[in-house]
Amino acid sequence: MFVDIRPDTMNIDEQLIEAAITPKTKAIVPVHYAGVACEMDVIMNIAERYGLFVVEDAAQAMMSTYKGRALGTIGHFGTFSFHETKNYTSGGEGGLLIINDDDFAQRAEIIREKGTNRSQFFRGMVDKYQWVDVGSSYLPSELQAAYLLAQLDAAELINANRRATWQRYHDGLIPLQKANNVSLPRIPPGCEHNAHMFYLKVANLHERTALLSHLKASEVLAVFHYVPLHTSLAGQHFGHFHGEDRFTTSESERLVRLPMYYGLEQMEQDRVIESINEFFCQN
Ligand SMILES: *Cc1c(COP(=O)(O)O)cnc(C)c1O
Repeated sequence: MFVDIRPDTMNIDEQLIEAAITPKTKAIVPVHYAGVACEMDVIMNIAERYGLFVVEDAAQAMMSTYKGRALGTIGHFGTFSFHETKNYTSGGEGGLLIINDDDFAQRAEIIREKGTNRSQFFRGMVDKYQWVDVGSSYLPSELQAAYLLAQLDAAELINANRRATWQRYHDGLIPLQKANNVSLPRIPPGCEHNAHMFYLKVANLHERTALLSHLKASEVLAVFHYVPLHTSLAGQHFGHFHGEDRFTTSESERLVRLPMYYGLEQMEQDRVIESINEFFCQN
């Protein structure tokens, strides 16, 4: 079951979750979009009252916090991605599962070991290892781990650089927001974000298409983002939208992501901002 988003953060609207719960509901899965926290106090409170698990999709949220707590560590599970598009990458694919419950940690270890209790064998807890559950091969190679480790060692530096880039976009585009041409992301109080992305929203799909092609003509690669899950083929097959889609579709159609990566040069960034300004001057 999907519920509508909040237009200010593009995150799940925590006020709509409770009404969507049915006897079949097992978990709430908040996605911390752009590395900005969902309203976790409200979500954890609902989960507690209904006996549900919370699985935080923190794929975009490494180094982000909510009221001082690291995202991905608040729910029962937290999932992270080290895909090449994320703030910290293992040189291709990779990820991390954080488990706040020992029972699940044991099972996760078995699933990771291809369904065997091999880890228990190495700890001397069983005299031979065997297949005890479903599983697959989820281990990263040592090269991938080393590639990632160097970035984790430099996590603060990478984060500070991205945050500075994010802030320059924000400051540079504030005049356009004041003139009602664009709307910029909002960071709610209590949330420290990791500058995973910088997006802005324009009036509608038509204007977005025009802006993207204007930027492309000035050699700026700006892109749109996710098609809402409930409108995708799998979403239609496996789930459905609860309540009214007031914001999910319309807000996603307005969204434009700007170039954002560690080490983005200020001069290049100024060109992006200039090109956006140019677009709104002409139109
Ligand atoms: C990237 C991403 C994922 C998928 O991560 P993988 O490492 O490709 O599994 C899931 N959710 C969100 C919100 C993401 O941004």
